[in-house]
Amino acid sequence: MGIAPKKHPPAEAAPQSTAAENRADCATFQFHGAARGKPRNPGIYPSVPQDRQREFEAAFYEGITRVKKWFIDKDWIAEGSELLTLPVSATYVPDKAFHVFVSEEYQFSRALVPAWSAQRGRMEFPANRVVAGEAAISHELVHVFFPNGNRFLAEGLAVYLHQCVGLNPCFPNYKMDLHQLVAQLLKTNAGPFNDVHDLKKINLEHLDRISTPDDMTFRIGQEDCDDASITYALAGSFVQFLIENYEPGSARKSGKCPTFFELYAETPLVPLVRNAGDTDRWKRIYRHPLSEIETEWKKLIQHHLQ
Ligand SMILES: [Zn+2]
Repeated sequence: MGIAPKKHPPAEAAPQSTAAENRADCATFQFHGAARGKPRNPGIYPSVPQDRQREFEAAFYEGITRVKKWFIDKDWIAEGSELLTLPVSATYVPDKAFHVFVSEEYQFSRALVPAWSAQRGRMEFPANRVVAGEAAISHELVHVFFPNGNRFLAEGLAVYLHQCVGLNPCFPNYKMDLHQLVAQLLKTNAGPFNDVHDLKKINLEHLDRISTPDDMTFRIGQEDCDDASITYALAGSFVQFLIENYEPGSARKSGKCPTFFELYAETPLVPLVRNAGDTDRWKRIYRHPLSEIETEWKKLIQHHLQ
């Protein structure tokens, strides 16, 4: 009885990847609505009219180009780089980086929380926003390309970038200047605000401690606020201030934001992990604690209150 020769394991295939997001067909779209009631799943119907579907798809691909151009122009990524490279296993080559769902069942658009749940590239948009031309496409693409573990920074950058490169108006500012919007919320006593002097009571350190996927909340006195139309406006305005007003002189003149990038890169999104970052990082990176930076931002908002 001889000893059977050991079989050589099959040669390992060289690791491959597919660069999907720069291709013209990198997304799959579903516009289905499912009729409720009995019998179960009685029918599937389009949640958005055909012409609006094509319009949305075209805006989505245009959004990819515009959002990536912002990151390239700011030196966050190199020209031609891919952020959503999909792993290839044996002969199966995934060919869609984005899975986009549009349904009337969704109340809000979402991409960040799915990314946190290890489904980066899954995006949801409410049908009514798509039909109205108010889908937050650029906002959600920011979450897919650069998700963050700090919810305040993640939403702030998404709101700000949609304002910069988004083609359409969308929540929360519908193209209104973000600093102006914060001033207006204070002036109109929105949410927890009772007076324009409540600007002083806003505590951004509290917002900075909130990690993805938790909802942003803050407090004015004893009054809690989790209204996204307010928290998103604060986040967007503050990130705009950091990028446009608070970079050291040379970077600001060249239109770049290396300091903000350093801060943002401190808290990358790791699926299923809550990490908002430590409070000391502000002083380490900006040489000032968040409380001092916040004071400077409030001076800017004060200017809009006059
Ligand atoms: Zn968002």
